[in-house]
Amino acid sequence: MNQKTRVLIIGAGVAGLSAAYDLARADYDVTVWEAAPQAGGLAAGFKASHWGWPLEKFYHHLFQSDHDIIRLAEEIGIGNDVFFRRPITSVWKNGRSYPFDSPLRVLLFPHLNVLDKARMGAVIAYLRFSSQWQKFERVTAHEWLQRTMGRRAYETLWEPLLVGKFGEHYREVNLAWFWARIHKRSPALGYFRGGFQHFVDTLVRRVEGLGGKVYLSRPARRIRPLPEGGFHVQGEGGEWRGDVVIATISPTVFQRMVPELPSSYLEKVRNLRYMGAVVMTLALKHRMTEQDYWINLPKKEGFPFLAFVEHTNYMDREHYGGDYIVYLGDYLDPDHPYFQMSEQELLDTFLPVLPCFNPNFTPDWITGVWVHKATYAQPVVPVNYSRQIPDIVTPIRGLYYASMSQVYPWDRGTNYAVEIGRRVAEIVQSRKL
Ligand SMILES: Cc1cc2nc3c(=O)[nH]c(=O)nc-3n(C[C@H](O)[C@H](O)[C@H](O)COP(=O)(O)OP(=O)(O)OC[C@H]3O[C@@H](n4cnc5c(N)ncnc54)[C@H](O)[C@@H]3O)c2cc1C
Repeated sequence: MNQKTRVLIIGAGVAGLSAAYDLARADYDVTVWEAAPQAGGLAAGFKASHWGWPLEKFYHHLFQSDHDIIRLAEEIGIGNDVFFRRPITSVWKNGRSYPFDSPLRVLLFPHLNVLDKARMGAVIAYLRFSSQWQKFERVTAHEWLQRTMGRRAYETLWEPLLVGKFGEHYREVNLAWFWARIHKRSPALGYFRGGFQHFVDTLVRRVEGLGGKVYLSRPARRIRPLPEGGFHVQGEGGEWRGDVVIATISPTVFQRMVPELPSSYLEKVRNLRYMGAVVMTLALKHRMTEQDYWINLPKKEGFPFLAFVEHTNYMDREHYGGDYIVYLGDYLDPDHPYFQMSEQELLDTFLPVLPCFNPNFTPDWITGVWVHKATYAQPVVPVNYSRQIPDIVTPIRGLYYASMSQVYPWDRGTNYAVEIGRRVAEIVQSRKL
């Protein structure tokens, strides 16, 4: 009798579930272990009892170039639930927001002169239409952008973005990371009817429908390669024995789980650096801004967070029981004090700046507060990063590692989680055990 190959996937985020779906379709015996009580990882949602749709813990949208996730949504039968809108994204300068998502709006922006704008426009156009990213990874975005577009445009518009995303590491980030954003992003932004959780839940159902098993609240603790081949995996509340393990978790957790990995590979995993994210979501009685979906904030102007995201200027508030929804988000080093702060301490830190967005704001507008934190949220990609990325195929036969840190040159996102999940599934199928 032919025994099915047994695969354990660690992590029911978008990458793990995408891999599970393809392997279950290819008749592998698939098990997924997820540490959290719900599937979805960073793209998971939460829901107040009076809301119709769940809301992402961390603000999410798609771009029109996100073909992998759109294709997978079609394959699992929810292609019609993806839709695009063009909300207003803005930058903040000297106390107010300026829409900044079309050439006309850039022309109208008063804080740069015509020459600055022409130079910046030429640089952005060059990056948008270049297809070879390799040369861009040899320089830092900080150095190259200043040199090409000039200091004023860089310091006004792009430096705040880099500082916000990478904190004190912002000078190290390579230009390929910046190129990927310019090259791939669209002003129209996509969303799922029912939120990203609807996509995740449908994917879980498809995996289960194909015979795969998805266990929640089941953190893996130790992956032990067996002398005869295959693995024994210990987790909280269960153990597993089988042929193939795919880990989709953070580098820090992964390297601890398999100390048997050769030191050259472990070293690469240990050297991956990343930022965490802290995001506060507020439900409000009134709108904060007239039109802004997204405002990038310069920390230089004293904001205690990077992004102000008024979700209900993008999605209709009827899906959230009439609440106005605002996210206040920041990327931070995983040891930043925000990770230790209570909800009240974060509120005390964030609320004093809210009148900047609406002078009428008072704390009694707030009807709900949620804080979500993730220590592994955004890989930091230095110069020549492509040489530093650990291979998906580890030196231990049957063990694969597929994480956000490896989707380079693309900036991590659900689209690339689908792509790397399906890629690792294809590699598993192509290799003999
Ligand atoms: C603030 C923020 C905003 C974002 N905005 C967008 C956006 O607008 N659009 C977009 O497409 N993407 C966005 N992303 C990125 C996107 O969410 C991720 O790229 C994607 O979800 C990563 O999927 P993943 O499966 O690779 O990893 P994860 O989602 O991190 O999944 C890994 C899973 O492994 C689980 N796990 C960890 N340790 C263990 C263990 N020991 N045992 C078992 N399970 C374990 C985790 O609980 C998690 O569920 C955003 C992310 C953040 C933080």
